[in-house]
Amino acid sequence: MTEALVQLADVRKTYGALVALDNINLDIQQGQFVVLLGPSGSGKTTLLSILGGFVEATSGQVLIEGADVTAVPPAQRPTVTVFQDYALFPHMTARDNVGFGLAMRKVPKAERHRRAEAMLATVGLEGLGARRIEQLSGGQRQRVALARAIVVEPKVLLLDEPLGALDLKIRRQMQEELVQLQRRIETTFVHVTHDQEEAMNIADVVVVMNAGRIEDVGPPERVYLRPASLFTATFMGDTNIISGRVTEVHGERVKLETAACSLVVEGTAQTGADVHLSIRPEQLYLGDAPEANAIALGDISVTSNVFQGPNRLCHAHSVDDPTVQWIIRQPPESTAAAGLVMKMWVRQSDIVLLRD
Ligand code: ADP
Ligand code: MG
Repeated sequence: MTEALVQLADVRKTYGALVALDNINLDIQQGQFVVLLGPSGSGKTTLLSILGGFVEATSGQVLIEGADVTAVPPAQRPTVTVFQDYALFPHMTARDNVGFGLAMRKVPKAERHRRAEAMLATVGLEGLGARRIEQLSGGQRQRVALARAIVVEPKVLLLDEPLGALDLKIRRQMQEELVQLQRRIETTFVHVTHDQEEAMNIADVVVVMNAGRIEDVGPPERVYLRPASLFTATFMGDTNIISGRVTEVHGERVKLETAACSLVVEGTAQTGADVHLSIRPEQLYLGDAPEANAIALGDISVTSNVFQGPNRLCHAHSVDDPTVQWIIRQPPESTAAAGLVMKMWVRQSDIVLLRD
């Protein structure tokens, strides 16, 4: 495997007694669209700022293309940052905003204009170069900020919640455009968001962050379907968490007792350990369990069934133990009405054993 473009080794950042980042080890490959995903305060901006050089790590190392840039200032790094508020010059034209970085690099005016106009066309703003920023919509400003960042051809583009200020429809459209742009220019993107849906829409690799630590790293499909930890399972979409106790361990498989049943799942744990399991709502099925590879979860009583367009979301609880609650995604035609008692099952292979 080729050497990673960006390498973070044992990065730690403290503010007095507060640990903003701890034990951050992360490799980013050339050309990847990486998304840092986590709740507010989890350390996303701090990590991005350490990559961009705006914040100095308390300890640890940042390498880009194998060179140690830990102490290198932002302007001397092969990175460009798009800040949350875009930091555009409101009275200047879109063209001059985009050309700003080139002016700093002493690119002559005519070439600056030509490259700025070309870059504006790349982000879908052809012909708007003479407009002042204050005359542009939120989505258009966001595009100017992108154009200004990529015109200087960084190795790594760092984006801090760049779509946070846009309304939902424009945000979805910009997500799509960002992915297209990234594919076209093949620049490595590191994009921050707290929105798991956005992360799934755009990421090649999702880095799930919680309280200054990395909880999970992987393609969105893997992180959603096989979350590594309890935090990842609950943050990356809806899920059912089941408590269990390990009764036997056989290599990579463990036997567990839960309130609903006993079952065998893949994973590693110690005999006697209290663990959590995750089952996504769409992996629960109502009715009789088929013979093979299925685990009956007993009778459930449906408490609500809400139509959501592509599916219905049901809430239910186990009949034997009403404290065990379930969320179940059903097809739109589902007749699982509130008050009904039904059998429920899950495929054994869909149950995920989580790290606490
Ligand atoms: P996120 O971007 O995920 O919301 P941040 O990286 O901004 O999180 O912050 C991580 C933690 O570090 C938070 O607890 C925040 O309050 C703290 N923090 C960030 N910057 C500073 C600073 N300059 N001084 C003190 N604490 C800070
Ligand atoms: Mg932030």
